Amino acid sequence: MLRAPEELSRMMEAFAKAIRRSGVKLTSQRIEIFREAARTGEHPCIETVFKNVRRRLPTVSLDTVYRTMDLFRDLGLISTLRGLDGRVRFDANIQPHHHFICTRCGSALDLSGLKIDGLEAPKSAPGLGRVESVHVEFRGICRACAQRDAHHGNAGTRSHRIKNDRKKE
Ligand SMILES: [Zn+2]
Ligand SMILES: [Zn+2]
Repeated sequence: MLRAPEELSRMMEAFAKAIRRSGVKLTSQRIEIFREAARTGEHPCIETVFKNVRRRLPTVSLDTVYRTMDLFRDLGLISTLRGLDGRVRFDANIQPHHHFICTRCGSALDLSGLKIDGLEAPKSAPGLGRVESVHVEFRGICRACAQRDAHHGNAGTRSHRIKNDRKKE
């Protein structure tokens, strides 16, 4: 799911501003890596970012992409989340938002507009540490998976699911 061009250019501008403010050099390599992370709302993993960046910058190494992502994270330009498969995924959307996780394909989709203003942390929270942000994760079947199910019928879905379960064993 590609991000709308206006939204992507807004994110790229905010990124460039933040990089300059932090005193880090705004190189074309950094721009390309961030653009790749921000290009879709799919929360790509490092391999996906690397593979796509390499199409435009054939000499870039996986290590460089790793280090650049770490830098972005340290600067607060990107956050990470862990998918159901345990992989780290990158999130270039730094506006407060929540996620819808598809339990079938593992997609993480942004969800905003949830009203949690005034939500109070449980009384036991301070005992664990200082709460700095709240992230709510909704789980379900994404539209793409639901449509696939509708095409294949229920029987197909079941055998597909069994196949996937077997793969995990
Ligand atoms: Zn799905
Ligand atoms: Zn997100």
